[in-house]
Amino acid sequence: MQKTTLNQIRSSFINASRSEAARLTPLKDFDELDWDALDVLGWRDPKMPLRGYLVVPQPGGRIVSALLRAPEGGARKNRAVLCDLCRAVDTPNDVLLWVARRAGASGRNGNTVGTLICADFQCSANVRVQPPADPINPDPALVVARRIEGLGTRAGLFLEKVRG
Ligand SMILES: [Zn+2]
Repeated sequence: MQKTTLNQIRSSFINASRSEAARLTPLKDFDELDWDALDVLGWRDPKMPLRGYLVVPQPGGRIVSALLRAPEGGARKNRAVLCDLCRAVDTPNDVLLWVARRAGASGRNGNTVGTLICADFQCSANVRVQPPADPINPDPALVVARRIEGLGTRAGLFLEKVRG
């Protein structure tokens, strides 16, 4: 994705109030992010770890962001659970049910939408792990390219649901 500033991110939330966006704490190494290696940007708020942010690029270079909430009580250890965004099977990080308030009046009325996402939003790294070549997938780079595309598509669909 294209390099994005914190101000652009703060003004791109579809389901957060202005003050929630203003209180956001950036990633510790935000200035050193390798944007070329990211299809979506997600992180947990360093000061409010139950709060997460997901930034998704849109066609035309715009970004759209969602404020997410993790369940109290922490990580889900069930290895059978797949992240809905990256669907990575060979990277056993924890996956959480992240919940987003819906945008607009629906969200103010308490409506939410949840999805399983890697606990620390490792999705962009996960899809870049090259699988070993096998007879069905002789070209690992092609598999990676397909996974990258799938991650972008599914993240966009999730934000569409949040938008309602
Ligand atoms: Zn993931």
